[in-house]
Amino acid sequence: MKVLSAASELFPMVKTGGLADVTGALPAALAGQGIAVTNIVPGYPAVMAALEKASPFHAYKDLFGGAAQLTRGTAHGLDVIAIDAPHLFDRPGNPYLGKDGKDWPDNAQRFAALAKAAADVAGGINKAYRAEVLHCHDWQAALGPVYTHFLGGPKSVMTVHNIAFQGQFPASVFSLLGLPQQAFAIDGVEYYGNVGYLKGGLATADAITTVSPTYAQEICTPEYGMGLDGLLHARRHVLRGIVNGIDTAVWDPAADGRIPATYSAKTLRKRVANKRALEARFKLEPGDGLIHGVVSRLTWQKGMDIFAASLDQLVATGARLALLGTGETAVENAVFEASMRHPGRIGVIIGYDEDISHLIQAGADTILVPSRFEPCGLTQLYGLRYGCVPVVARTGGLNDTVIDANDAALQAGVATGFQFAPVDAATLEHALGRAAECYSNAKLWQGLQKRGMDQDVSWARSAAAYAQLYRALVKA
Ligand code: ADP
Repeated sequence: MKVLSAASELFPMVKTGGLADVTGALPAALAGQGIAVTNIVPGYPAVMAALEKASPFHAYKDLFGGAAQLTRGTAHGLDVIAIDAPHLFDRPGNPYLGKDGKDWPDNAQRFAALAKAAADVAGGINKAYRAEVLHCHDWQAALGPVYTHFLGGPKSVMTVHNIAFQGQFPASVFSLLGLPQQAFAIDGVEYYGNVGYLKGGLATADAITTVSPTYAQEICTPEYGMGLDGLLHARRHVLRGIVNGIDTAVWDPAADGRIPATYSAKTLRKRVANKRALEARFKLEPGDGLIHGVVSRLTWQKGMDIFAASLDQLVATGARLALLGTGETAVENAVFEASMRHPGRIGVIIGYDEDISHLIQAGADTILVPSRFEPCGLTQLYGLRYGCVPVVARTGGLNDTVIDANDAALQAGVATGFQFAPVDAATLEHALGRAAECYSNAKLWQGLQKRGMDQDVSWARSAAAYAQLYRALVKA
């Protein structure tokens, strides 16, 4: 089966967030399911530079204000069709923002071009290729389903990675899009009198996905839906959540070159060498007691303001903390001041550092993720794989990937971590207390670690779910 994936980001060429990881990792995993993915992406300088064995695919005399060439080739093992449209995409740096840090003024045209070219390619503008499914990611590609819906084309999937970015433009943009007038309506791109790209994609796609089942439910509610909850609720019968995978080669405790001692579920005792290294790196008093770990953006979304205010309590439970992160100044200051109040008990490194993030997963006993919302979340998946027990807010992908160690789950032998909700100081402190109590029972704790390490957090599982979705669509 042939699937055309349309997105503005593709790892490792263009990445500003998790979207790039998904579009970059899924093709290889889907190949194992008999699905051939071609990626259509804007011809940003980094994409054009990476393209090998390139050949012309289609020429546009005019694609939103200038001539453009679709060029097909390979890049980092991926089958890529680049939209070589210098007037739109030959700009260095961030794909969305100019040097002044503001959105490019022609983003409406730039990403309409991505979607139009995607719909054209999927529909067979070059007779050598036709896709059975067009899979569009986030607002930048979200007009793809609108074009195929109103102008004809294959079945479409719209995936939401971040509902906060919706691509909203003034109504005057509509006349540029080459869509029939009826597309400017409630079941098209019209959104409170303006043009909404993501809104249009969600209204017209044959299937909608997001990155976890719980987040799929949450975005149907006003609290999480950012204004699109009504539409999503109405279309909930075609909406489903598919949890992201992680790169299990990069994140493999048995072969991780960034940590002092590699280990597996069978050799968990070797983790202690990593714990010693972690203590040294974070200037913590050495000892066998519980060490909590945090690797996070220090932001409101991540619940880090509440966490920072709970640090005296964390120390009072007898535990220590190793925290790595950067973010809001107030939160950075609060965690730093806590480390001054509790030398040897709270270690803080402000910064972004891949090596230290691996050391925390390999040496800490828990990974804390108190997010207010979390579409999927990666750190808890790394934690599971590293026997670093996740203590997480019960929201989004955190809820779907961690099984709370309540009495029933412990008895059934399925628990992998701790959940708490809502995110506030009292529930967080209660969860820290539960983790500390469980840690004092070594057998119980090792059970959590081993079950976590047993979970399948690879892309293979996600790919199987996407493959099933594509097949169901084509059959329908
Ligand atoms: P989000 O994308 O919302 O920040 P995720 O959990 O999906 O949250 O992904 C965060 C990724 O960034 C993880 O791979 C995590 O390890 C990494 N990360 C976050 N902060 C840091 C940091 N300070 N140093 C190293 N890695 C970090």
